[in-house]
Amino acid sequence: MRIQPHNLRTPGPTPIPAEIYEAMSDPMINHRGPEFFELITECTDMLKQVFMTDNDLFILTSSGTGGLEASVVNTLSAGDKVLAASAGSFGDRFADMLDAYGADTQRITFEWGEAIDPEALRQALRDDPEIKAVIVTHNETSTGVTHDLQSIASVVKGEFGKLLIVDAVSSLGCVPLPVDGWDCDVVATGSQKGFMIPPGLAFVSFSKDAWEAQKTATLPRFYFDLDEARKYLERNQTPWTPNLSAMYGLRAALESLTAEGMEGVFGRHASIGQFTRDGVRALGLELLCTDEERASNTVTAVKMPAHIDGEQLMEIMRVEENVVLAGGQGKLTGHIFRIGHLGYFTEDHIQEVLDALGRVLPRVGF
Ligand SMILES: *Cc1c(COP(=O)(O)O)cnc(C)c1O
Repeated sequence: MRIQPHNLRTPGPTPIPAEIYEAMSDPMINHRGPEFFELITECTDMLKQVFMTDNDLFILTSSGTGGLEASVVNTLSAGDKVLAASAGSFGDRFADMLDAYGADTQRITFEWGEAIDPEALRQALRDDPEIKAVIVTHNETSTGVTHDLQSIASVVKGEFGKLLIVDAVSSLGCVPLPVDGWDCDVVATGSQKGFMIPPGLAFVSFSKDAWEAQKTATLPRFYFDLDEARKYLERNQTPWTPNLSAMYGLRAALESLTAEGMEGVFGRHASIGQFTRDGVRALGLELLCTDEERASNTVTAVKMPAHIDGEQLMEIMRVEENVVLAGGQGKLTGHIFRIGHLGYFTEDHIQEVLDALGRVLPRVGF
């Protein structure tokens, strides 16, 4: 059975432009041959522009979580004290990963729908000088909140000089994250959110301080060993067979992003985020994130009105309106729905969602 075209409005995977699909249908090549050398060099150079960094940058074949795992296993040892800031299910998941690897995870949590408070991190770092690293999610996809990473980094790196590891899976390439400008050590993201390509690639930037930490980090690693990746990258290769088709797509996507310029890309996401929030409120719905300054420009979480059957709403949207929305995660399941607007989106796409909601909401008793 072939998949019929539909309006995918989830925060990843996201829709893919036709010219990127076309680029991905190029023939397979030898990943130890000259076409690949050119492909990885071009992709890496352009990714550095998008990350705004001169740090090392690796393209890994995995989903975004693989990039997060690479961040952890290459910098930490079992028993290391790590401060894990979380205000949603992705923040919690990142902390769970630390637990799985035997770190001494110090969780600091905030209300879901609210932003991580940099002052609380400052206090936690002051209280416990043994903390070695801080992990943080830049954009919490489960709640539609973009945390104030610039302030967080200025505390974690600027004031305390701790290693800062960032989950930027649903922010990088959409909203400003100048990796060098904000001094973030390790920043990981994935291909299927802001990059307009399918799932299957992760991108990780790795600073000098991260390499310093790597020297003594003893967590087990093999597939995600960035020291191996670095040795191979010197020869324009990857240690393992890379996802070539996704990299063809990546090259096309990066050409389009760099041609538009990052300021243009950020401006486009800012205006579509505003358009979405205004449209949702005009329907009489409430946003989960009430702090307009921290509201995400890549995903909007909408409170499910009381007495409305959220599953029925999403089902009618999908079957009759051909619009696929995302539900809530973890403890927000049934309490919110989410509209993705990262990557390849226009206001027309969002207007279609709003129009469809306008038709469907009265039918489910709103
Ligand atoms: C989607 C997402 C992930 C997980 O990425 P996968 O590609 O599914 O592994 C992690 N963190 C955030 C913030 C995300 O949005």
